[in-house]
Amino acid sequence: MNNIYFKITPSYEMDCVYSSVREILEFYNISSIITPDTTILLKPNMLSRSAPEKAVTTHPAVVEAVIVCLKEMGAKGENILVADSGGGPSNVAVHAASYKTCGFADVAARYGAKIYTKYETATVKTDGKIVKEFELLAPVVNSDVVINLAKFKTHVMTGMSAAVKNLFGCVPGLKKAEFHMRFPDKENFARMIVDLCETVKPTLTIIDAVTGMEGDGPGSGTPVHLGMLIAGDNPYYTDLAVCNMMGFNPMQPPIMAETIKRGLVPPVLPADCVCGDVRLYKKLENFTMPQSYRIDFGDRVPRALRWATPTVEKYLAPKPKVKKSACIGCGQCRDICPQKTIKIVNKKAIIDYNKCIKCFCCHEMCPVKAIDVKRSVFFNI
Ligand code: SF4
Ligand code: SF4
Repeated sequence: MNNIYFKITPSYEMDCVYSSVREILEFYNISSIITPDTTILLKPNMLSRSAPEKAVTTHPAVVEAVIVCLKEMGAKGENILVADSGGGPSNVAVHAASYKTCGFADVAARYGAKIYTKYETATVKTDGKIVKEFELLAPVVNSDVVINLAKFKTHVMTGMSAAVKNLFGCVPGLKKAEFHMRFPDKENFARMIVDLCETVKPTLTIIDAVTGMEGDGPGSGTPVHLGMLIAGDNPYYTDLAVCNMMGFNPMQPPIMAETIKRGLVPPVLPADCVCGDVRLYKKLENFTMPQSYRIDFGDRVPRALRWATPTVEKYLAPKPKVKKSACIGCGQCRDICPQKTIKIVNKKAIIDYNKCIKCFCCHEMCPVKAIDVKRSVFFNI
């Protein structure tokens, strides 16, 4: 259908989220594909072990409301599985602790649903543009229905994180770091993510934008109350709506640009796609972009020199920078870094920029926001 459904949802009070989710699932006629035997994967954003109020992860009230509604529509609790794989190195105990802190473990237990703490994988062949085979969390491949429960967030590397980027969590644990190494530049990374989305093909996406994140997301930004859920059966369309609301040029976030180049979504969102509480769909006032995207470099370069922009831009690209006073020496940035370019010396992280590919995984994973995004002074002129 390519419809995007906006629903006013002022708070995470259960009654409020439940009625919004119910309306969304009815709009997309989800009950027509649910039987007691249907196996359903709920894929929240569980980037890191973060409490719900930090707005790093999908709020558990959204997961809870979806489980309740699916059961009302005939699904069996035991056939509903909540699964994601966070960013850092992990084992079953660490993974279980993330589900607990994010609130997903309690919600699942309350309704007889399950959480997926294992790392069993399944390999899928694809006819992707850049990836021909993905190794994914097994239930992503084996479930009948995948419901993508994403979060409305900025992202220092990809500009924004909503429906499509959320699916990177289908790649287990440190295999994500391998993809960062294989595709160190943003454009090829974006091609890989779109190939992944074409492989997973979620049945429905619900983006938690009751409280979203602005600034230097996805792990260190600032929570911002937006008071809505945004849903869609086509993740590229929901993301174009989010992109416009954040105030990006749609060709600026690399994943968005790639989906437009492939013709998966038009560059201008057709007005008749926007449904539900349509007045919610507008550019957000005073929304803070990530530092890495606040200025379009190309606009600052004289026209005659624009041929050199990609090279110069690469040289001047924002970098991660450790705030020594805040660093607690936990080593999480070192463990996640795909280039193994971070050392801990005297309980402080030190980055060797010669090998850094500016993926900002270290910034995402730092539990105490000790890694900033440092821009060249050129951007401050
Ligand atoms: S920068 Fe952050 S993640 Fe890295 S060692 Fe310091 S506190 Fe830990
Ligand atoms: S130092 Fe940070 S930004 Fe650079 S490669 Fe490592 S994780 Fe990525």
